[in-house]
Parts: sequence; C-alpha cells; structure tokens
Amino acid sequence: MAEYVFAPPSLPVVPVEGEGGEALGGFPVRRILCVGRNYAAHRREMGGDDREPPFFFSKPADAVVPPGRDPAYPPRTANLHHEIELVVAIGGAGRDLAVGEALGVVYGYAVGVDLTRRDLQSAAKDKGQPWDASKGFDDSAPISAIRRWRGPAPQGRIALSVNGTVKQEATAADMIWNVAEIVSEASKLWALAPGDLIYTGTPEGVGPLAKGDRVEGEVEGVGSLSFVVA
Ligand code: MN
Repeated sequence: MAEYVFAPPSLPVVPVEGEGGEALGGFPVRRILCVGRNYAAHRREMGGDDREPPFFFSKPADAVVPPGRDPAYPPRTANLHHEIELVVAIGGAGRDLAVGEALGVVYGYAVGVDLTRRDLQSAAKDKGQPWDASKGFDDSAPISAIRRWRGPAPQGRIALSVNGTVKQEATAADMIWNVAEIVSEASKLWALAPGDLIYTGTPEGVGPLAKGDRVEGEVEGVGSLSFVVA
C-alpha cells in the first residue's frame, strides 16, 4: 500500500513501574473498557436497581491522561463528575477466559478517574441514547503509572479527595464483580489483547469538579494520582 496520507497518530502511553517502584518502560494503550455500577452503594446513589448486574461501556484509547498532565475541563457540560477506580492493565491475549484463568492475562494495576459529564449522561439515560458523549470525551481517563503486579488482585483502600477533602472512600474488596470476574466477563464480549485497560467501577461519593480543583486519588498498594482540572 502507498504511504499514509498523513502522519499516523502517536499511541497513548502510560508509564510502568516495577513491584519495587523502578521504571520499566511504557504501556501502549489499545483501548479502554469500563465497568458501570460495580459497587452497591454507588449503584444506589445513581438510582439503580439492586438486581441489575454491572455492565460495560468504553472510552477511546486517546482519552487517557498520563501522570504529569492535567485534564482540561470539557466543553458542553455544567456538571463534570469524578469517579475513582482501580484500573486493570491487560498484558496477555485471551477470549472466553474462565474466572479461574482470568488473572493470567493481567499485567498490572493503576489508579484511574472515570471523568463523566453527568448532565449529558442523565439526558442520555432519559432518552435511551448512548453514553459516548458523557463518558468518552477528550481527557476523560486520567490514570497513574501502572504498577506491575502478580498474584491476587488489590483489595485495599480506594479513595479520592478534592482540594484535600475526602469525597470517596471504600475498599476494592467491595466490588460486586471482582477483577477475575470482570476480566472473564470482558473476554466473553471482546478478544482481550495487550494494551487494553479496564476501569473497574467507582464506589459511592461521586460529585462535581470545577476548574482549578486539585484531585488526588489512591488505591492501597497500587499507587496514587494527582491532577488539577485545567
Ligand atoms: Mn465509572
């Protein structure tokens, strides 16, 4: 085939740290899957039905905001919300994975924020329309460095503060679908491949962000992230 008609876009890349915190290189992002309604208390605060299982939506790969960069406040919203989430970084290929083999394709974990135009999401829900504009916008997926990780998934504290005030606090063990179940479910819907990221859902306490707010998030044992809404 002839050469590209314009320069191909550069891949979004997230830095990787080893189990001791040493720099291992860059994780090229292939796509971003997200889980909705994966903590019971958040499902209730969003008006959800307790019998409704979690579900997936997605963001484009270039929505990631790697550490050291600040996300821009997006246009066309007056209600930008924070959602702190444990992020699974996929390093192996797999489809139709059983729960018992799902952790075998996990490369590591990161701390992420699923930024949401809540007003557009509410309007989309009312009209039965897709969530892309409310979830998959530019700079909608801030993320920490990815921590290389082997063995059982993180179970510790997950928390987010805005300007020093804690707004969300739970433990990753509170998830309705655990990491192995999420990866198994995802692999039955899509062929997973190295470079996939899965945002695993947020606990209760989501709320609005304004320009200039400083956001700090952490997952115990995995790491932390910090940014200012630009
Ligand atoms: Mn979310």
